[in-house]
Amino acid sequence: RIVLQSVRDASGESLKGIAMTIQDLTREVELNAAQSRFISNVSHELRTPLCNIKSYVETLHDMGDLLSPEEQKEFLSIANAETDRLSRLVTDVLDLSRLESDRVWQLEPMDLAPAIEQTLRTYRLNAEEKGVTLIFASDQHLPRVRGNWDLLLQVFDNLVGNALKFTQVGGQLLLRAYPWPDHCLLDPVASPDDHPSCALTSPLPRLRVEIADSGCGISEADQARIFERFFRVENAVHTEAGTGLGLSIVRGILEKHGSQARMASEPGVGTTFWFDLPLEDADGDELQVQVERS
Ligand code: ADP
Repeated sequence: RIVLQSVRDASGESLKGIAMTIQDLTREVELNAAQSRFISNVSHELRTPLCNIKSYVETLHDMGDLLSPEEQKEFLSIANAETDRLSRLVTDVLDLSRLESDRVWQLEPMDLAPAIEQTLRTYRLNAEEKGVTLIFASDQHLPRVRGNWDLLLQVFDNLVGNALKFTQVGGQLLLRAYPWPDHCLLDPVASPDDHPSCALTSPLPRLRVEIADSGCGISEADQARIFERFFRVENAVHTEAGTGLGLSIVRGILEKHGSQARMASEPGVGTTFWFDLPLEDADGDELQVQVERS
């Protein structure tokens, strides 16, 4: 965009020249386009369950007398399931918009293990019913991280919920948390020559969290789109409840922690999601020294 402005003398009477400003609006235009796409996707996603609820309730209202009790029950249970879907969608859309607002999220020193344990407690019964083993493996004393308890709980909830959803009977779900790059903490006097991989990885020591399942896995083509809003693998759309927003929320939350979700998957073998969190004293002198060393 080109903006032209007249430049006048102090009295404002005589014209001294013209100032031309060239503004690059590419990012603004892209953001607006992304926003409109999102709103149109949300409207579409909300309309589908709403239309289903309306048509089943309308049929029951107008011609319920002609339906058998089984059919009436079936219609009510479809309307009920669609209401649940609508409610999940609204919650997820609100969560996403909270993350995208300018709100500043407080990151505080916290222990991660209790957050992981709380999530596992929530899912234990569900896992038992499905015959899936839940394992949490970590050092007894994990370094504290800087994070937001509620947001990280939501990350665990989404990732563990997914892992369980897409793992068949008899499968396994393994959560691991460990310092990374581990030698920087465990062996602070090591030189980069002893651990060449250190120089290639994150320069600041962090806590790595992995959630690995032995589930259905994700094909390479789908992996490329897995963090897109509303994206769901075709078979999941038909078999599992979900909105396709869970991983976008995970990505947004981790960005607030200066982190990024990563994943590796093999169809028929399983999927692992992992991310690194900043340690409590990530800005402290001690860690700065370690950074220089690595
Ligand atoms: P949803 O609400 O559908 O779970 P997500 O954004 O959390 O939305 O996930 C998007 C899609 O990614 C899922 O519908 C599913 O197809 C796939 N997916 C996510 N996690 C896993 C996993 N652990 N194993 C296999 N597929 C997964």
